Amino acid sequence: AKQRGKANWVRYATGMEKPLVAHAQIGGDLRRALDAGEFRLVYQPLVELRTRRVIGVEALVRWMHPERGMVSPAEFIPAAERTGLIVPLGRFVLRETCRQSAAWLAEFGPDVFQKAGPNVSVRQLHDPEFVAEVRAALADSGFPAERLILELTESAVLRGPQVSRALHELNALGVRLALDDFGTGESSLSLLRAFPAAIVKLDKSFVDGIELDEPGTAAADARQAVARAVVQLSGALGLDTVAEGIENEEQAQRLMRLGYTTGQGYHLGRPMEAEQITRLLAAQRDL
Ligand code: C2E
Ligand code: CA
Ligand code: CA
Ligand code: CA
Repeated sequence: AKQRGKANWVRYATGMEKPLVAHAQIGGDLRRALDAGEFRLVYQPLVELRTRRVIGVEALVRWMHPERGMVSPAEFIPAAERTGLIVPLGRFVLRETCRQSAAWLAEFGPDVFQKAGPNVSVRQLHDPEFVAEVRAALADSGFPAERLILELTESAVLRGPQVSRALHELNALGVRLALDDFGTGESSLSLLRAFPAAIVKLDKSFVDGIELDEPGTAAADARQAVARAVVQLSGALGLDTVAEGIENEEQAQRLMRLGYTTGQGYHLGRPMEAEQITRLLAAQRDL
């Protein structure tokens, strides 16, 4: 029965099929898991490409399932969004990111630890309490608003007046917004003008293969053209950029030559436990 449950779950997560049983099951299971404290955060370093220093982190949620072990968010975030559980789950992610980040900031100072970013779903932006919750998470933790980077996808920010108002209120709080997975949406360029973002995260799909430049690999050329256009346009608009999904040194070098100063990816640091980030920051401080 366990095997079948797992197979259903995986199929469900792909979005190809939505068996009702699995839907109901995962909804109830997520609620139980949240109450049982089974969610935790891992942190992936944001790295200054030139010096390879960790300058901040992205917070990524994990489900420590008692039977299945660690479950990836790709499997449960879509279900959490559909069932609405993303609202309380996102609240936990926000509060925990602020709490942990305030501790890092207090221990290492703003030269070593600069910023932290949780991911935020559009469902959360529709929650009328969201802005108040961000304000409370900042106040309770003492983490400064301008060091909190909320990561939003392009599709999320295109959702009408309520979302737009929330984004502007967040901006007024001093929180910064990052456009995640940039380049994969439909209206990336016009969005840059309209949306109060401070940071653009170049999607991994433009980084994959960007280092390959044997003659005739048009795909690599196209990726480079996009990567270059994004960094130039962002610069012209006064936005910072982060290149995501860097998996090897050649990609890091290529992106640096194109003008990227900050990167993220397995080559620079995998998502890891808070204690490991603490050790990295301590090593940098003691340099
Ligand atoms: P994302 O925000 O684009 O996060 C980056 C994902 O890429 C993470 O997967 C990360 O582990 C992975 N990644 C980073 N570097 C590399 C690399 O070099 N190569 C490869 N192949 N992958 C890399 P993860 O942690 O499984 O998260 C997947 C997605 O789930 C995230 O994509 C985000 O959309 C969502 N997510 C994660 N945590 C949260 C959360 O707390 N709230 C919400 N709403 N969504 C979340
Ligand atoms: Ca993200
Ligand atoms: Ca991303
Ligand atoms: Ca993504």
